[in-house]
Amino acid sequence: MISTNVLLGLEGKTAVVTGAGGIICSRIAEGLCEVGMNVMLLDIDEARAIEQAAILKEKFPEVIVEGFFANVLDKRSLESAKKRILSFVSAIDFIVNGAGGNSPKATTQAEEIIPGVNDELTNFFDLEMDGFDHVFNLNFKGTILPTMVFGKDLIERGEGGILNISSMNAFRPLTKIPAYSAAKSSINNFTQWLAVHFAKTGVRVNAIAPGFFVTTQNKFLLFDEKGNNTERGQKIINGTPMGRYGEIDELVGTSVYLLSDMSKFVTGVVIPIDGGFSAYSGV
Ligand code: NAD
Repeated sequence: MISTNVLLGLEGKTAVVTGAGGIICSRIAEGLCEVGMNVMLLDIDEARAIEQAAILKEKFPEVIVEGFFANVLDKRSLESAKKRILSFVSAIDFIVNGAGGNSPKATTQAEEIIPGVNDELTNFFDLEMDGFDHVFNLNFKGTILPTMVFGKDLIERGEGGILNISSMNAFRPLTKIPAYSAAKSSINNFTQWLAVHFAKTGVRVNAIAPGFFVTTQNKFLLFDEKGNNTERGQKIINGTPMGRYGEIDELVGTSVYLLSDMSKFVTGVVIPIDGGFSAYSGV
């Protein structure tokens, strides 16, 4: 019988993962080690990248794992990380563009403006443009730049792949977070665009769209100070046919699949991992 790792074809290949100090991408990085890949963890929080790398090194001594500082919004910092990466491995095969997030500065308190009823809540007109810029840049430009810096190597060797991280709100925007919704929507568009642009090079480009997972970036929207579901948290649960938040582990299988030989003829797709949220009309 052929082993799963042979079918996946990822053993001994190297992935660069941005935002790898974070909750989702540190787990995806671990999943890549589990299938025999070398993983280079990049984060603006250098200590977290190094700390996560140390955990993985201990758990997976058979692969090469290193953590580095890199700001996905600064080409020079990515280039300097690349130079350091190539002193540990001979080539970069895959990119996981994981750095991203939302900001309270680009989040309204009101879901909708209801004149005379919720005038005290902040709305569209109170959003701070620098918050908008930050969220848009981090998610969109923060996917473009690492792809430019690391992607050329993939094209030159004519193999490998790119995995972008979109979100549920890319398909239909969620209330309160217009910058994040628009930025993630741009990831879907860019994933399709780049997939076509690279289609004849041997390099595939896909994305996952996680549904609702509790992490640092969204905790303040889902739970009150006592840890109870906010009204919004309850709405999410009601809108998710499986009736629960996702477990971070549940993002790993689809991520591995999209990088692996199992999806050889798949490019330009965005796969929801959402317990049915995007399939459900609410009725
Ligand atoms: P997280 O905040 O735990 O991790 C994000 C990581 O990115 C952090 O370690 C942070 O230091 C790093 N980062 C921030 N700015 C950076 C920069 N300029 N350069 C390099 N690194 C930077 O968030 P997470 O929930 O693990 O999110 C990971 C990805 O998944 C993000 O793209 C997020 O938008 C997306 N996502 C999350 C959810 C969810 O439910 N948490 C849902 C859909 C999509």
